[in-house]
Amino acid sequence: MVRADCRCRMRWCPSSSFHLLRCVRLRTCTKRRRNTLPLWIREIWAYIRLLVQSFYFNSLTDSDVVFDSVFEPVFWTVDYITRWFGTVFVFLVVVLTSSILAIAYLFVLPMVFRTYSTAWITWHVCYGHWNLVMIVFNYYKATMTLPGYPPTVKNDRPFVSVCKKCIIPKPARTHHCGICNRCILRMDHHCPWLNNCVGHLNHRYFFNFCLFMTMGCAFCSISGRNLFLDAYNAIETNYQTAAPPYTFKDKMINKSIIYMWVLTSTVAVALGALTCWHALLISRGETSIERHLNHREKERMEKRGRVYKNPFDYGRLNNWKVFFGVQKRSHWLTRVLLPSGHSPPGDGLTWEAFPVKKDVSMESIFSSFCCVQPTLVLWLVGLKDPCRVASHS
Ligand SMILES: [Zn+2]
Ligand SMILES: [Zn+2]
Repeated sequence: MVRADCRCRMRWCPSSSFHLLRCVRLRTCTKRRRNTLPLWIREIWAYIRLLVQSFYFNSLTDSDVVFDSVFEPVFWTVDYITRWFGTVFVFLVVVLTSSILAIAYLFVLPMVFRTYSTAWITWHVCYGHWNLVMIVFNYYKATMTLPGYPPTVKNDRPFVSVCKKCIIPKPARTHHCGICNRCILRMDHHCPWLNNCVGHLNHRYFFNFCLFMTMGCAFCSISGRNLFLDAYNAIETNYQTAAPPYTFKDKMINKSIIYMWVLTSTVAVALGALTCWHALLISRGETSIERHLNHREKERMEKRGRVYKNPFDYGRLNNWKVFFGVQKRSHWLTRVLLPSGHSPPGDGLTWEAFPVKKDVSMESIFSSFCCVQPTLVLWLVGLKDPCRVASHS
């Protein structure tokens, strides 16, 4: 057929077309030479190529998948160490906090009683013990409360994807924790200092612990500043003079006060920064994981000339009300300023998304958690990830 076609064209085409056809014929001959290998070799070669490609080929492969695959051994090692050191970190928190308490009760409080006025003594005792109760309560609840897990049996609840490791449906805002090795509802992060995941059911306890621990450390640091300066000057003078004017007990007290001030000041600054960051995230209605997802999606939408909005942002004040479970004014006292073991609104499986007005009543938000709209269910089921939803400007 090719030769006949060539002859036909040789009659009618100009010399350039004739040259082109000759080139095509030469290429065809070259290809024929390549395929002269025996069939069984070509079959084996094709099988090997398919086998190699099956190791890494995926239509959804992108830079993130390649990055995760390359660093998988590193992630595995970090997860293993974090899991193993979780108990050690909790032990450290308990021991360090207990040491500060011991110094406060043994050395600082007697000084306060001797030197301060009655009003200042009352303030220090009342505030200090309220702060201590909030720290202990929230830390205990944060470590002991399970973060919330999606159901592993078949159910009719909406989901947005399937976990590749647990092989179970993943509801919206659920993520897999490599350290706990299971999916966590509304996962924020895995906290080694709690030896627990921070998720839907214990996120409030985690934040309260950070907040009240920061406040307690700042309280110790500010109110103990003069004691620290006196103790520091006493030790410096002691080193410089020939005859030490202080007894062993005095030295121990001074060193303990310096230790307390340095530790509480350091924790107040470091934990204060972390608490501010989480407060910002809560104000925006997003978790630490969603912060990265939303940021990436925002950039992607900006390239397309669109504006991205977090679907779970109900407005700054409403986000805080939902986070603390405040449904009426008295809850600011009973559920925020006092120890409270109430459960967060909703079951963590279904979430109301926008559009939600900024001045929406809290009743509508809380009722929407309990009663998921059918349209929302369909919308969520049809999505790969709820954070990929964007609103047009
Ligand atoms: Zn999972
Ligand atoms: Zn975890």
